[in-house]
Amino acid sequence: MDTYFDEDVAAQWMRVRNRMQAEFGEAAYRSWLKPLILNSFNNGKVVIGAPTDFMREWVEAQYAQRLTDLWSEENRDIRGIDIVTAPTTGMSRPGMPREVAVPTRHVAPDLNGFTIENLGAPLDKRCTFDTFVTGKPNELAFAASRRVAESSEVTFNPLFLYGGVGLGKTHLMHAIAWQIARQNPDRKILYLSAEKFMYQFIRALRYKDTVAFKEQFRSVDVLMIDDFQFISGKESTQEEFFHTFNALVDQNRQIVISADKSPNDLEGIEERMRSRLGWGLVADLHPTTYELRLGILQSKAETMGVDMPPKVLEFLAHKITSNVRELEGALNRIVAYSSLVGRPITLENAQEVLHDLLRANDRRVTIEEIQKRVAEHFNIKLAEMSSARRSRAVARPRQVAMYLAKQLTARSLPEIGRKFGGRDHTTVMHAVRKVDELRGLDAAFAEDVELLKRMLEG
Ligand code: ADP
Ligand code: MG
Repeated sequence: MDTYFDEDVAAQWMRVRNRMQAEFGEAAYRSWLKPLILNSFNNGKVVIGAPTDFMREWVEAQYAQRLTDLWSEENRDIRGIDIVTAPTTGMSRPGMPREVAVPTRHVAPDLNGFTIENLGAPLDKRCTFDTFVTGKPNELAFAASRRVAESSEVTFNPLFLYGGVGLGKTHLMHAIAWQIARQNPDRKILYLSAEKFMYQFIRALRYKDTVAFKEQFRSVDVLMIDDFQFISGKESTQEEFFHTFNALVDQNRQIVISADKSPNDLEGIEERMRSRLGWGLVADLHPTTYELRLGILQSKAETMGVDMPPKVLEFLAHKITSNVRELEGALNRIVAYSSLVGRPITLENAQEVLHDLLRANDRRVTIEEIQKRVAEHFNIKLAEMSSARRSRAVARPRQVAMYLAKQLTARSLPEIGRKFGGRDHTTVMHAVRKVDELRGLDAAFAEDVELLKRMLEG
């Protein structure tokens, strides 16, 4: 088959996806539309790949028509769209990035009254303090956000929230905005991503409109910039932001910033900017714990009004450890599945529907990491994991590592054996049994193993 896609088709695909995102909302976009990839374009026919059969069916049923309509608006030559099952691995092609940065057009129906004309980005109604589930990993960031949102005076400036992907930074920023707007509808709040800030700035430069740009940004009461790390290395944008920042701080206006790293660790950001970012309150969001994940799942299931067997929620909290976004995506998918096929949710069909996600999450812990952690923990050399020595001092930790490898990875017994100095699968089996037995007999040992497991999963 003579397959090609040129940049035009790729750009059209990005625009179509952006429009779908605006129409169907962030959650639907993340669960169903974002995982789709442009596969080929041939003779007026576009082929889109979905990661699993189930997702393909769902996208066909729910979104294919709109996808076709939108794409025909973009390109009259499009005669149809085929959705095929195409597991994502191995599908990306050179020169065809899955994410192309195309500025999102601002869509009118999302305007919500407190973005300044086209400058800001819409806020998600669901992201409020009420819907934010707290636990150890995020309690500081949560408390700091509430404080900033609720106090009438500017105390911490800026509030700097940082943490890994999908841990709730954007959620907290939206929550702050909603809360301030509710308490004080007159305050002008401007929320936008650093990317959008840069885009606006460059546009202002191009249209020789920088005076208006400066005025608009400096006239707000609250400026919130999400994903600040985006402007790393973008010198002129940083320079402009630095001036905006100072002007606002001087006028005692609140600034809230999020990033994936702490001010000190941000690379490609000028020293004077980094030090200023740390002047107010810096609060981090830590990776989730099992308890927090379970709490979030329970709360989301309740909000969605679905009856989820506790076993399924526990399974998800246990298996999907990467971030809250994936956790949500998994829940959405299971719920959609059960309503689509009209069957109640069970552990089994949850596993089936999520097999691609589960695989991706499994891949996070490798046998090498397990060996390293366990060796450190028991204070033995890493090499002892594959050595032939059998003394208890090294054999026991080795067994623990084998046990954890079986628990935390999808590797088979023979594969695990191979990684431990070419041992037989029966040795691994024996280790798994032995550790299980010891866990029952020795509480301190059981706790040790549990601790290691949690550290590796974290
Ligand atoms: P980040 O901006 O840090 O990448 P988001 O704020 O976009 O992450 O969070 C990802 C998703 O997870 C969002 O849908 C958000 O509502 C949800 N989420 C994150 N943390 C929590 C939490 N503690 N309670 C409820 N939902 C959460
Ligand atoms: Mg975010």
